[in-house]
Amino acid sequence: MPLFGRKLPEETTEVGPRFEPLPDPPEPGDDGLRTMHDHRRYVLSCVAELPPFRQQILDVVGLSVCEDIVSPINLPRFDNSAMDGYAVRAEDVALARLDLPVVLPVVGEVAAGQSAAHRLSPGTAIKIMTGAPVPRAADAIIPYEHTDRGKDSVRIYSPSERGVHIRRIGEDVESGSKLYSAGDRLGPRDVGLLAGIGLDKVLVRPRPRVVVIATGSELVDPGLALAEEQQIYDSNSYLLAAACKAAGAQVFRVGKVGDDPDVVKRVIHDQLIRADLILTTGGVSQGDYDVVKAVMPQIGACDFAQVAMQPGRPQGFGLIGEDRTPMIMVPGNPVSAFVSFEAFVRPVIRKLMGVRPYIRTAVKCQTTHAMTSIPGRIQFARGIVSYSRNGARQVELAGGHGSHLLGDLARSNALVILPKDAEFVPAGEELDVWLLDETA
Ligand code: AMP
Ligand code: MG
Repeated sequence: MPLFGRKLPEETTEVGPRFEPLPDPPEPGDDGLRTMHDHRRYVLSCVAELPPFRQQILDVVGLSVCEDIVSPINLPRFDNSAMDGYAVRAEDVALARLDLPVVLPVVGEVAAGQSAAHRLSPGTAIKIMTGAPVPRAADAIIPYEHTDRGKDSVRIYSPSERGVHIRRIGEDVESGSKLYSAGDRLGPRDVGLLAGIGLDKVLVRPRPRVVVIATGSELVDPGLALAEEQQIYDSNSYLLAAACKAAGAQVFRVGKVGDDPDVVKRVIHDQLIRADLILTTGGVSQGDYDVVKAVMPQIGACDFAQVAMQPGRPQGFGLIGEDRTPMIMVPGNPVSAFVSFEAFVRPVIRKLMGVRPYIRTAVKCQTTHAMTSIPGRIQFARGIVSYSRNGARQVELAGGHGSHLLGDLARSNALVILPKDAEFVPAGEELDVWLLDETA
């Protein structure tokens, strides 16, 4: 049964494309392979940023604002006390000493949230709490610690100067000043400031809703027993769902579907209604059961390419269904799926939610040992980045090149980018790496 009751397009024997085709894909090189950069540029050019709307400030961490934000108020909003103590005139306490205190009558009290009703008369003190408005004519606060904490009158043991322990109106943020420009990315501290200036919502692009589906009849959900020898746990839909979430998306993990073409087609079709992006793993290689490659052209405009990278060579992209929902189809080996995520999916998620830069910024790292690579394609090796005693960033490999090495992937904290033409990289050479735990 379809989950959401939308009808699949009727099967047809008509010749010719049934969907508006994709833009022309980039030409492959002489080796028949498309470069990673060409493929990424192509996929990014086929997706558009989601339209922005106003969202609650607690929901915008990691998103970019789509408007300039000007403070509507001053922070502090009024002169207020930085201490619990007494509001005085500095000149009245100028001669105060420990052995010769100045004694002032306490003529009132003001706490945070109360208004400072009356003006301070010369030669008097008003008890004041942190955050309370400073009474007119008072120009210094004497903290409790420098007094006898008197109730009707107070003994003041040390002098003060004008302005001491007074937080001035607008000294932090001035009303009318520009705090954010369109494109700025918001974090927890920004949420604090937005609340502080009284904004409960800001204009941002929404988190993309990403539907994650794993294909393969060998897959079993974690938590269940593996019944047969040839079964394996579905790690990819979890890996990718977690990675999408960490990239800022809202994720619907559908989990595993088998390799039955009709089921795969129907499940994907039924998910379109809640997806800004569909992400599948498996079934895009050259095998006989590569179901995704076989069925997706029936329900959308698709592009399948061999990309000059390892892992992650077979890649699929499509605009599916009436709404032309973007779909990225990555290969099934867990490391291939993850590298494809980093190379193509994460940039697309960031474009959809309007967070720049779309592509991770590579940093230079010195290799601690020699590395080999296959020339003709970019190789992404899993690496462990650490810091030498003099603070230099260095990288070693986490295990081998095999794209099934899930344990090594989990141990790594970086992808080491071995350039297309590299065959042998000696120890001490500088290579580009993507630091995987950085969220920028
Ligand atoms: P495929 O791309 O479907 O040919 O799969 C390539 C390899 O990845 C095979 O060894 C699959 O068993 C494995 N694989 C595919 N999907 C998953 C998954 N969701 N979790 C773990 N391994 C998978
Ligand atoms: Mg498969």
